[in-house]
Amino acid sequence: MSEKKRPVYIKIKQEDNVAITVDRVSAGSEVMEGVVASQDIPQGHKIALCDIPAGGAIVRYGVVLGYAIDPIAKGQWINEKMLTLPTPPEAEQMRWGVNLRTDLPKPARTTWEGYRNAEGFAGTRNLLGIVTTVQCVAGVLDVAVKRIKEELLPQYPNVDGVVAVNHAYGCGVAIDAPEAKVPIRSIANICKHPNFGGELMIVGLGCEKLTVDKITDRTGPDTVLMLQDYHGFAAQVEAIMAMAKTKLEKLNQRRRETLPLSDLIIGMQCGGSDAFSGITANSAAGYASDLLVSAGATVLFSEVTEVRDGVYLLGERTVDESTCRKLGQEMLWYDRYLEMGGVDRSANPTPGNKKGGLSNIVEKAMGSIAKSGSAPIVEVLSPGERPTKKGLIFAATPASDIVCGPSQLASGITLQVFMTGRGTPYGLEAAPVVKVSSRTDLKEMWPDLIDINAGTIATGDATIEQVGTELFDFILDVASGKKETWAEHWKLYNYMCFFNPAPIT
Ligand code: CA
Repeated sequence: MSEKKRPVYIKIKQEDNVAITVDRVSAGSEVMEGVVASQDIPQGHKIALCDIPAGGAIVRYGVVLGYAIDPIAKGQWINEKMLTLPTPPEAEQMRWGVNLRTDLPKPARTTWEGYRNAEGFAGTRNLLGIVTTVQCVAGVLDVAVKRIKEELLPQYPNVDGVVAVNHAYGCGVAIDAPEAKVPIRSIANICKHPNFGGELMIVGLGCEKLTVDKITDRTGPDTVLMLQDYHGFAAQVEAIMAMAKTKLEKLNQRRRETLPLSDLIIGMQCGGSDAFSGITANSAAGYASDLLVSAGATVLFSEVTEVRDGVYLLGERTVDESTCRKLGQEMLWYDRYLEMGGVDRSANPTPGNKKGGLSNIVEKAMGSIAKSGSAPIVEVLSPGERPTKKGLIFAATPASDIVCGPSQLASGITLQVFMTGRGTPYGLEAAPVVKVSSRTDLKEMWPDLIDINAGTIATGDATIEQVGTELFDFILDVASGKKETWAEHWKLYNYMCFFNPAPIT
């Protein structure tokens, strides 16, 4: 019986002149025929497969990651200090509709169990959402929510939880600045979140700039409560609890029903990426996305700086000219936004990304785009906008995990899939977050934080299709309330950091 040999390196495209190491490689060991490592190379890092002259292109995924600063010898480790960044691709004159795949894989499951809403997508959880107009009320609201959870929630077994949408916006901001529309739209749209079941509750202060009418037309006393109307702290907490009780009674009437996947909307993002992310976790997520989209579901993917360097690949997948144009506009808007801050897209990669083998933003982007699978892109959203179509959608957001999450929530996602290489315990209270590891080592180190391990793809123990199908099934089980994610189990929830590109006063 022959023993299965673990692969030593991963080369993606024929034209690549670098490969990445599956494990740490020692100096002197042969990585592939004729290529001997000239020094120790860490796991997931690049090795030169041929001599590359100074100024020569370094190619992975079949694209130019950058140009060698000094000559690089065959067998040498290539780290982030050894290459310069190419100019970003053109975003205004992209080709559209030339790569519209029609033969997406078909899943075995085409229904799920969700909470139907009067309009729009269905919920994956039945939550009481309490949206705030300003951060000033967060302390009082948190005290009230703790008591709601302890004293009221147990009486309403069909309600899954209570979410205080505390955020940093609302006052001390230039509310009429052109870009203030981004946070205002995000907060207005979170009021309509499918997991909140239409039983909206708003807590404000009374003197803030973000007045209630800016975020909802439901401004009546059955929905809105202003702290300055109450005599002292105890009365404020009692008022919040009394309103919560009326909402919980209504939410408790809701039940899951069998629904088509066209009622499901989920988001994808990655964080703490490494060189494996693109070939394992993000590729498996892309396959799961294709299964979801082919069965009618809506999938959002985001993170402008992480698609910027491969945006032409997305442009080719847009279904019409206006969608392609909006994609380009979102890229250019972000270019200017970064420029105003005196940086460019090279500011994106983190020290952890680099330690994980990602040399620069081009390499990170090529891995990041894999999570979008191969379906046509039917719509492009500005940050915090709600979709008007169903299918695969690019929702422009910052790549920051902590900002992308709330931005996708504002767009209405009811579950997020989060791919990670370095590892992060990230979670959202308003929607379950499924975490997928890019490496088996991470799953072994964090067995009680990572839901799905895609590292088996790198070691040849599973295929992208197998892990993608496993992920698809897990997404539907979590969406249907049959399974919970580790982040839900431990109640790991990050703050609601809505994107605010406008000035603070
Ligand atoms: Ca991210």
